[in-house]
Amino acid sequence: MKTPSEQEYELQFLKGIGPKRAAVLFKYGIKTREDLLNFFPRRHIDRSRIIPLSSLSPEQEVTVIGKIEAAGIRRSRRPMFYIVISDESGLLEAIWFNSINYFKNLFKVGDWVSLSGKVVFYRGYQLTHPDYDLFESAEIDNLLNTGKIISFYPGNDTFKRSGLNSKTLRRTFHFLFKEKLDFIREMLPESLRRARAFLERAEAYRQIHEPRDMTHLDRAIYRFKFEDFFFLQLMLALQRAHRKALPDGFAFDKKSPRLEKFYKTLPFKMTEAQKKTVKEIRKDMRRPEPMNRLLQGDVGSGKTLVAVMAILIALDNGVQAALMAPTEILAEQHFFTIQKWLKPLKVDVHLLTGSTSAKKRKAIKEELETGAPCLVVGTHALNEPGVGFKNLGLVIIDEQHRFGVMQRGRLIERGAHPDVLVMTATPIPRTLALTAYGSLDVSIIDEMPANRRPVATVWRFENRAAQIYDFIGERVRAGEQAYIVYPLVEESEKLDLKAATEGFELLSKGSLSRFRISLLHGRMKGPEKEKIMSAFARGEIDIMISTTVIEVGVDVANATVILIEHAERFGLSQLHQLRGRVGRSAKKSYCILKTPYNIGETAQQRMKIMTETNDGFIIAEKDLKLRGWGDFFGTRQSGMPEFKLANPIEDREILEQAREDAFGLVAEDPLLRKEAHSELKRFMQENLKERMDLIRIS
Ligand code: ADP
Ligand code: MG
Repeated sequence: MKTPSEQEYELQFLKGIGPKRAAVLFKYGIKTREDLLNFFPRRHIDRSRIIPLSSLSPEQEVTVIGKIEAAGIRRSRRPMFYIVISDESGLLEAIWFNSINYFKNLFKVGDWVSLSGKVVFYRGYQLTHPDYDLFESAEIDNLLNTGKIISFYPGNDTFKRSGLNSKTLRRTFHFLFKEKLDFIREMLPESLRRARAFLERAEAYRQIHEPRDMTHLDRAIYRFKFEDFFFLQLMLALQRAHRKALPDGFAFDKKSPRLEKFYKTLPFKMTEAQKKTVKEIRKDMRRPEPMNRLLQGDVGSGKTLVAVMAILIALDNGVQAALMAPTEILAEQHFFTIQKWLKPLKVDVHLLTGSTSAKKRKAIKEELETGAPCLVVGTHALNEPGVGFKNLGLVIIDEQHRFGVMQRGRLIERGAHPDVLVMTATPIPRTLALTAYGSLDVSIIDEMPANRRPVATVWRFENRAAQIYDFIGERVRAGEQAYIVYPLVEESEKLDLKAATEGFELLSKGSLSRFRISLLHGRMKGPEKEKIMSAFARGEIDIMISTTVIEVGVDVANATVILIEHAERFGLSQLHQLRGRVGRSAKKSYCILKTPYNIGETAQQRMKIMTETNDGFIIAEKDLKLRGWGDFFGTRQSGMPEFKLANPIEDREILEQAREDAFGLVAEDPLLRKEAHSELKRFMQENLKERMDLIRIS
C-alpha cells in the first residue's frame, strides 16, 4: 500500500494537473492514473451528428452548435432568460425559466455553445432548458474543421474553481495517452475478447477519452458497459457455485401432513401460478443447500398463501420459522390472517414487534429457546439481540424492497444456513431481478386470483373535490369502505402527519361527517393502530384517513375506494401499491388520483400510466424507466450494485450477454484456477472485495 501523499504525487506530475488539482481529484477518489482513466466523459460531441439549424423539425431530439448572437432577459408573464444562436444555415432560440441570473452570467454574445434538447415550435423553433456546453474558439475550429469528436467531463463547483474543466482534462488525457500505458492490465480472457470483438483494455480507454471516430467510441463504450455487468455477474456466479458446494443447510424432506390438510380446507382455488411457485419452493426446501429465493408477484396476487405453505413444510420438518414484515401494521395483519388459517392445524404462532409487551416478549423468548417448532411473525424487532432462535430453519421476508441488505442479513444469520424466501410486490423483469437481487433464484406469480376485477382508476383535479366526496359517500351507503391517503412529505414526518390530521378534521366536520371516520398514522402506538385496523377490518369504520402506513400489504376486502390526495407526490410503484389496497374481492373498486391542475410533466406521465394499466409488471418497468436504476432501488442504502456507464434498463441486451458469459466461465472453471483466468481472478480480488461481502448476505 502506498501512503496518501505518495498517491497524490502520482497525479500531480501529469501535464495540466499539478499539486492543487491533484488534491481536488484525490478528494473525489481519483488518486491514480487508472482512477483518472475511469473518470469517463459524460458525453461526446461529434460533428457528424450535429444538425444544421436550417433542418430542424418539431419534436425532434437534437444536438446543435452555434454562436450566440443575442442574449437577455425577457419579462413576459413568466420571466425567462433567452439566447439566440446561429450557424451558417439558420437561427434557434433557447430559453430558461429558472436560475436566470446564473445563465445571464454564463452565456455571452460571441461564445460558441452546443445545445441538446427537444425542438418545439413557438413563434419559431425553440429549445426549453436544453443541456449545454460552452466551447473555446480553438476547440470549435478543431471540431468544425477536422471533425474531431470532443469529450465533455462531469464536474462540480470545486472542479470548476480549480480549473478542472473539460478542456483541461482533454489536454491531460492527450498527454497521458502519449505515455506507455503498461499499467493497464488486460483482465478479460482472450477467448471472451475474441468472441465479443472487444477492444483491448488500454485501447478502449484511449477511444473513450479521445475517440478516433464514432465506431471506435461505440466499441469502447460497449466494452466498458459489458465490464460493469460482467464483474457483478461473475461474482454472483462464483457465489452460487460456492453455495452449491456447501450442503450444510436443512433438507426438509419429510412430507407435511399439515400442508395437505391446509390445502384441502382452502376457501378458494389456488391459481396455477401459486401452485407453480409452491412447487419451486418445495423443491428448494427439500435440498440440503439453503434456499435463497425471491418471490415476485403483483399486489394482491396471493404471496402470503405461498409463504404459509412454505412455513408448514418447515414446521412439519421440526424447525422454527420467522416471517418479517416492514411495518407493525403489516406484521399484525399477517399474524391475524395466519393465526386464523393455522389455528385448526394447531400451529404455534407468535407476534413480536416493537409494541409487544415485555411479558409477552419474555414468554416468546423462552419458547424459542426450547427449540420447539413454531412461527414468529414480526418486524425488525425480530433482529434484536436476545431473541434467541434455537432452531431457525426458514426465514421469510415480506415486501423486501423496504428492508436494507443489512437488516435482512441479520435475521438470516440467526439460523445455521436457514432457507430464505424474500417476497416483493415490485416485480421487475427476470434479468433485472437477477441483477438487482444478487444470487437469488427467482419465482414469479404472474396471475391474479380469478375473482378479481381491475380497479377503475381516474385522475381528477382538486376542483372536483365535492363530487369525489359525494362518490365516496355513495359507496359507503352501499355498505362498502374507503381509504383516503395523504402523501409523505419528504422533509418532515411532522408535516406528513399534519396533512392527514387536517384532512381528518376537515372531512369529519364537513362533507363526510355522517360517516364513521378514523385517522391512522405511523406515529400512533402499536395497540392504538391495531385497534383501528381491526375495527376497520370488522367494518366498524367506514372511512379510514391515513398516511402512507397502509401502503404495504393491508388487506380488507370490503374496501372498494381509495382516494389518493396529492397523487403527484407519489412514485409510480407507490401509487400502485396503494391502489392494491382495494380490488381485493369481486366487488368493483375505484382508485381516485387527486392532483392540482398544474403538475410537472413526469407526474402527468405517472397519472396517465396509472389510469391506463393495472399490471404491476408494466408499472414497475415504467417506473424503473422514469426514475432510473439508482433512484428506483435507492442503490446506496440498499446495497444494490451501481454502474459506471451501463444502464441495466437500456442496456439489457449487454446485461444478458455478460450474464451468459460469466456463468459459462464459472461453470467451466468454478474457482478461477485456469491460467487464462489468472488476471481476472486478481482483478476480482483487488477490486470487488467489498461488494463480494455485501452480496453474500443478500
Ligand atoms: P399479496 O401478494 O399482495 O401479498 P395477499 O397474499 O395479501 O397478496 O393476498 C390478497 C388476498 O387474496 C388475500 O385476502 C388472500 O387471502 C386472497 N387470495 C390469495 N390467493 C387467492 C386465490 N387463489 N383465490 C382467491 N383469493 C386469494
Ligand atoms: Mg403481501
